[in-house]
Amino acid sequence: MQFTAATSRKLHPLRHARTTLSQLGITYQCYDPMDVADLQAKLSGRTKLVWVEAPGSITMEFPDLRTLVATAKSASAIVALDNTWGAGIAFAPFEMGVDISVHALTKYPSGGADVLMGSIITNDDKLHDKFRVAYLDLGMGVGANDAELVLRGLASIKARYDLHDATARALASWLAGQDGISRVLHPALESCPGHEHWATHCSAAAGLFSVLIDESRTHAQVDAFCDRLQLFGIGLSWGGPMSLVMPYDMQSIRGGKQSYGGHLLRFSIGLESVEDLREDLAQALSEALAAA
Ligand SMILES: *Cc1c(COP(=O)(O)O)cnc(C)c1O
Repeated sequence: MQFTAATSRKLHPLRHARTTLSQLGITYQCYDPMDVADLQAKLSGRTKLVWVEAPGSITMEFPDLRTLVATAKSASAIVALDNTWGAGIAFAPFEMGVDISVHALTKYPSGGADVLMGSIITNDDKLHDKFRVAYLDLGMGVGANDAELVLRGLASIKARYDLHDATARALASWLAGQDGISRVLHPALESCPGHEHWATHCSAAAGLFSVLIDESRTHAQVDAFCDRLQLFGIGLSWGGPMSLVMPYDMQSIRGGKQSYGGHLLRFSIGLESVEDLREDLAQALSEALAAA
């Protein structure tokens, strides 16, 4: 299964900004989250909101979040964080000055990979009122059954998150030493850009990481590796009980920026036994990714 350029365009991270936001007259600029000076240079009196995410989806680089937030606040911008990875466990965004914390509750809070729900949390009463009115105006609401599933999941989120974390770290470290893997991108490992920021911001990590398969391997080999895995589904979402793998075409998503070379695969580690997952990865590596 190849994640093609056409699929990537449909899922392009800027699609929402280019379509819906621009129809509302909202303009945007992108900054490099690993370069605080770049954000500083792009802030102006017209900047209403700065969006941050830690770590970056797919390439997993962890920014200097505290400094990014402080820089945005010094320009009087509101700071909104996509906190899906941290899930309220790995770090405390409001203590860093974040105004709005956004979660895909679909992932760790639900834990079951069987509900679609999200939340916007703020510690600012005025923003809270604005959100309430916007929700009313837009007619948004959640179903009681969905809320029930997320409430049930929340009771076990800490235990699940810690297990996802421990298993993912063990597998990421093991994969780093395997033939055919040129790099592992997991914020708790030194090989990941921004590892030093993860270390000063976080007390835990989610079950998510990416690997780069050596460029000497073909697309067909990478596809064969994914197909040979027995315990990993192929899927975009994450945070559920079952492990997932997803190939990404970085060239078409990021236009060559942050392409570290090689083929990128992202893993979401579920709640299976670490030995079973390691064995499964080992058989797929030796069957599909052995050097020609
Ligand atoms: C999945 C994801 C979302 C959106 O989740 P939905 O379940 O599609 O609403 C937002 N942010 C990040 C970082 C994600 O991984």
